[in-house]
Amino acid sequence: GSKGQGGNHYSFYTAEMGAQAVEHLRMEGALQRALQRQEFLLHYQPVVDIGSGVVTGVEALLRWQPQDRAMVSPADFIPLAEETGLIVPIGEWVLLTAMEQQVAWRQSGLPPVRISVNLSARQFLGQDVAQCVAGLLARTGCDPGYLTLEITESVLMENPIAAAETMGRLAAMGVQLAIDDFGTGYSSLASLKRFPIHSLKIDRSFVMDLTQDADDAAIVNAVIALAHSMKLNVIAEGVETGEQLAYLSKQGCDQMQGYHFSRPVEPGRIEAMLRAGRG
Ligand code: C2E
Ligand code: MG
Ligand code: MG
Ligand code: MG
Repeated sequence: GSKGQGGNHYSFYTAEMGAQAVEHLRMEGALQRALQRQEFLLHYQPVVDIGSGVVTGVEALLRWQPQDRAMVSPADFIPLAEETGLIVPIGEWVLLTAMEQQVAWRQSGLPPVRISVNLSARQFLGQDVAQCVAGLLARTGCDPGYLTLEITESVLMENPIAAAETMGRLAAMGVQLAIDDFGTGYSSLASLKRFPIHSLKIDRSFVMDLTQDADDAAIVNAVIALAHSMKLNVIAEGVETGEQLAYLSKQGCDQMQGYHFSRPVEPGRIEAMLRAGRG
């Protein structure tokens, strides 16, 4: 297709460089400018203790708000940020901002708030994330005991030796580790034994049809039971209905996140939820 079609309009455009590569370059530039112009922000989704109904923590979720355009969701820019390596400075900004938020909430007199931050594969395996986290903890005064770092199952399995080493260093600082989107990879629960993990987050895809699909219900039951036998905390993602919540509660799931309780919201709207039901 594109060969010979107006190729002279752009001096950098060659036959080897398809339209997709041009789009990548454009997006890469846009992401780089977004960092400089401070167009990133964090929304927070409450994590609710199923037994008590209390909001015990929040997950930080990255948003991009370009000037004069609609908000961009992470699914639309994190893969490219990963590919270009921009995820490293962006991820560092996320960590810094979430840690500063935790300190700000503490200073405003709120009970301690656990903040969970997502780390991508490249951040976790491709740079010294433990050193980065240690530096930011010292700089912000964030309490590592109330910081959770989320990594996906596939990241663990990509390089188990490096992952275990990094997780060991993070755990030694008192930071908790959670496995995100659990069930979508191919690891067995038993293989998680060698990692210093605190929580498992059951992927939304299993929660979605929980009350209609017997297979999904069986998977969720098994994950909760085995996780508890390994002394892991279980969080269900994407809880949208009261029926799902009732089922998870009956199965002894510890915590939940989902639109049923709240969508991810701006930090100002989290404060009231954090005060509710706590001294
Ligand atoms: P995740 O870490 O699994 O986050 C949960 C996603 O599910 C969020 O999407 C959240 O808005 C959405 N969600 C929560 N409850 C419900 C529900 O009840 N129904 C439905 N349909 N969705 C629900 P979001 O914010 O678009 O983030 C998507 C993914 O992007 C995240 O999945 C995470 O993998 C990645 N991400 C987000 N922020 C960051 C970040 O700061 N760094 C990195 N590396 N990745 C991030
Ligand atoms: Mg997550
Ligand atoms: Mg998840
Ligand atoms: Mg997910």
